[in-house]
Amino acid sequence: MPLIPDLLYETRAIARSLIDYSAGAHVRLGVTGLSRAGKTIFITALIEHLTKATSPAMRGRKNTLPVFRVHAEGRLIGGALEPQPDDDVPRFAYEDHIDALAGPGGRPEARHWPQSTRRISEMRLRLAFQQKGGLRPGRHFLTLDIVDYPGEWLLDLPLLTKSFAQWSKESFAAASSAARAPLAAQWRGFAAQNDPKAKFIESEARQAAELFTAYLRACRAEEFGFSSLPPGRFLMPGDLAGSPALTFAPLAVEPNDVFPPNSLAAMMERRYEAYKAHVVKPFFRDHFSRLDRQIVLVDALAALNAGPAAIRDLEVALADVLTAFRAGRSNILSALFRPKIDRILFAATKADHLHHTSHDRLEAILRQLTAKAIARVEGVGAEVDVIALAAVRATREAKVDGHGGPALEAVIGTPIEGERIGGEIFDGKTEAAIFPGELPADPKAVFRDPAGAPPPPDIDYRFVRFRPPIVARAADGTALPAPHIRLDRALQFLIGDKMT
Ligand code: GDP
Repeated sequence: MPLIPDLLYETRAIARSLIDYSAGAHVRLGVTGLSRAGKTIFITALIEHLTKATSPAMRGRKNTLPVFRVHAEGRLIGGALEPQPDDDVPRFAYEDHIDALAGPGGRPEARHWPQSTRRISEMRLRLAFQQKGGLRPGRHFLTLDIVDYPGEWLLDLPLLTKSFAQWSKESFAAASSAARAPLAAQWRGFAAQNDPKAKFIESEARQAAELFTAYLRACRAEEFGFSSLPPGRFLMPGDLAGSPALTFAPLAVEPNDVFPPNSLAAMMERRYEAYKAHVVKPFFRDHFSRLDRQIVLVDALAALNAGPAAIRDLEVALADVLTAFRAGRSNILSALFRPKIDRILFAATKADHLHHTSHDRLEAILRQLTAKAIARVEGVGAEVDVIALAAVRATREAKVDGHGGPALEAVIGTPIEGERIGGEIFDGKTEAAIFPGELPADPKAVFRDPAGAPPPPDIDYRFVRFRPPIVARAADGTALPAPHIRLDRALQFLIGDKMT
């Protein structure tokens, strides 16, 4: 990177830190995860709890955040939304999301899960609390900036060190794996007809990009659940949807090939490099490098549903994602940015799909899934933890008749219309008791391919998606925060130490 932009960047970063410093304690929390991992719901629930935990509507009610120490010790004074610091980043649409969850127009029967994360957004909260010790008694503040961004964007980091030819080669190799080949057939068929050195034709480039994107999307479709798929903006374009910056695709080229000017390969290479310079770098420089803490949400249940190939793919994607946290310490990317994240929390979301007897097993599976990723960040000085949580609990628990056998530990909720188990199709209005099955006691079991080795007898699970719970209200009509599972543990790890 040239020296002047580097210096400008440093100056801007120092100016920002000074502003942050003058405002008191400050944490910039990144919330990420692959598409549909649960980012939107997590942030919405977190804001809801932090702004309402000490409100009059909660007076006399059970503490909803018992593990969040500042609250358990009665020192949390309150939390309020504040104008966000960056004018060029969209605001997290908290109010819209709350409205969707409660049911638009105050109609609980219309409640639904809100629009998921599609681009970066942020929100600022100011938390007031009493300090624990006697050194500086009185009211203190923690400013919490929450930055929501698609995890797919982190998968782009390795591209910065790869040439167009290297990326092309790797993309073709990945697409030829047994699991992906059928999904990639159309794109590879088209690519086989293209001569990379032939004259560039825009419509061909567009078609190649469309077929390549369709292949990536097919991999992400729920039944396959594959996760490790750069370029990230092809799946999560943010504001770049339909832009020429995304009109490129891998070609059958070799690293030392020389491309004639105006050839298909020359143009694709140019666009690939432009994508790196104008899309990938600014994200890491302007947003990622400023984060202090990070939570990575993981929909392990969706991958479990999709099978061992999806689990292994998720493992690779998580390791790739974590490369970004290590970057800047030791490799050539350090000229671009230096992450300063000192705490990373991996969280398996939607734990309310399982009976609580399986929550620790879900945590153990996530620990196993992230073991390689965590090994990558060892030595960078970040503290890492793993939990299973549900930001919004859509189910309650019950024992159901085991039809002759022992009673089954079930969860009860309202499955989303069209969800099915066996021959039963749910109508979206009626509650049902679901026995989700038990997760295996040995977390390694979920990586084993039943085709290769016999599946362990205890692997038998099925999950359906539930509608959000009906929002409870205080006597004055104020909506109360929804029940959750272990959200308070996540809060304690992410910001508890800043509120002692
Ligand atoms: P993201 O923003 O793309 O990461 O994902 P969302 O937060 O929008 O979550 C995607 C979907 O997962 C939601 O529409 C819900 O169906 C489901 N979901 C997310 N969090 C929870 C949770 O805590 N409990 C339940 N039952 N479902 C959840």
